[in-house]
Amino acid sequence: MTKTKKRKMRLEHLTKFQDKVSQCMKCGFCMYFCPVYREIHTEPVVARGRNVLAMELLEGVPFDWGHLEERYSKCLTCNRCAQFCPAKVEVATITMAARADIVANKGLPFAKKVVFEKLLKKRGLFGRVLKLASKLQWLLPRTKGKIRHLPVFLSALAKGRQIPEIAPTFLRDKLPEINSPPPGVTKRMRVAFFVGCATDYVFPDVGKRTIDFLTSQGVEVVFPKGQGCCGMPVFGSGDFVTAREMADRNVAVFSQLKDVDYIVTSCATCGSALKEGYITYLADTPDREQRYKEFRDKVKDINEFIIDILKPPPEAFRTTLPKGTKITYHDPCHLVRYQNISAQPREVIKSIPGLELVEMREPDRCCGMGGSFNVQYYDLSKKIADHKMKAIADTDADIVVTACPGCMIQLIDNTIQKKMPQRVMHVMELLGSRTD
Ligand code: SF4
Ligand code: SF4
Repeated sequence: MTKTKKRKMRLEHLTKFQDKVSQCMKCGFCMYFCPVYREIHTEPVVARGRNVLAMELLEGVPFDWGHLEERYSKCLTCNRCAQFCPAKVEVATITMAARADIVANKGLPFAKKVVFEKLLKKRGLFGRVLKLASKLQWLLPRTKGKIRHLPVFLSALAKGRQIPEIAPTFLRDKLPEINSPPPGVTKRMRVAFFVGCATDYVFPDVGKRTIDFLTSQGVEVVFPKGQGCCGMPVFGSGDFVTAREMADRNVAVFSQLKDVDYIVTSCATCGSALKEGYITYLADTPDREQRYKEFRDKVKDINEFIIDILKPPPEAFRTTLPKGTKITYHDPCHLVRYQNISAQPREVIKSIPGLELVEMREPDRCCGMGGSFNVQYYDLSKKIADHKMKAIADTDADIVVTACPGCMIQLIDNTIQKKMPQRVMHVMELLGSRTD
């Protein structure tokens, strides 16, 4: 281990979660379940190794910040270790806290600082930059449909990576702020929609299908245009200060809507940030905690909302996909482990007449995306994805479906690179036809 000269280390965030760190019995069960450890077999990057490091840090052992950054960034925060840990140690929480202490002491890398503070925080500017990027994306060769790939001269950014196009029209520009049920459909309920960056800018059809389905079932959907990024990429990288500003803004925007029953999202990652991320990491005062909790109590994942609350009649579940289409479902970590939602998306799929759900092996094994993990450790991320690809291929399904746009990006990249026949879709896209 790289220890540094005696120097005061401020560990405000890790200290807050000290009791979680001390829960670890060092049994090593997590080694079998950690997707990162399974690829590189080094103790420092598995839950146990990181917990021991956190214990040493809290005991006052000084380390080099660069060394800590590497150790704590090589985690997908998939929470698979916690699922099987006999002591239920929340390693992902400890990892996030350590990342926040690293950022508080060392600062963010320059590129992240610019993206988080100058772009993600400012929705208008971020949208304009992406609009410009969408006009220049013809520079990247097209692979198929709306997918492009990074050419050889950009190999430093991961040669061959398949990237979904930025949509020419963002969802927020396609839809009005109030989306009412069509004529002839009685209004039953009013909800607000949290869109998330990937749905807004890359997969607007997912958002459109979601809102169309809800309005067709008598739900009026408010799409507040003042909302911004959920903040997960920001606090997941340890920048709690910037993320707190983003959370405050989202909570304020949605709290103004007094007459909405729920806040619905079709992004598993956003849902997890809004439900628990804000409270766990960003609620630094009792007032914030109270506001975040009131906000959290209204947030529902779309699958959870449809099955547990809306309960539409059987005839609501229609598709234009051919009868007998085989579907396999990938559980996003942020849905199955962070929100305990796995039955509801399967219920939605099984409710659609003519579709056949075929389970893959270990459907809840992480696909290897892990937010910026996929950018920072692309080759490792692909090795983790290989297991998912093999499991998908073995089902012989026509379509792999998930409930998180982040997982969709990873699944699209890897299925295309492996020349697999499976198309990647969001659950909500099954309910209607996609425009590509
Ligand atoms: S994190 Fe859990 S599974 Fe891993 S060593 Fe600690 S107690 Fe054991
Ligand atoms: S959260 Fe996932 S990647 Fe991180 S230590 Fe646990 S199992 Fe491994």
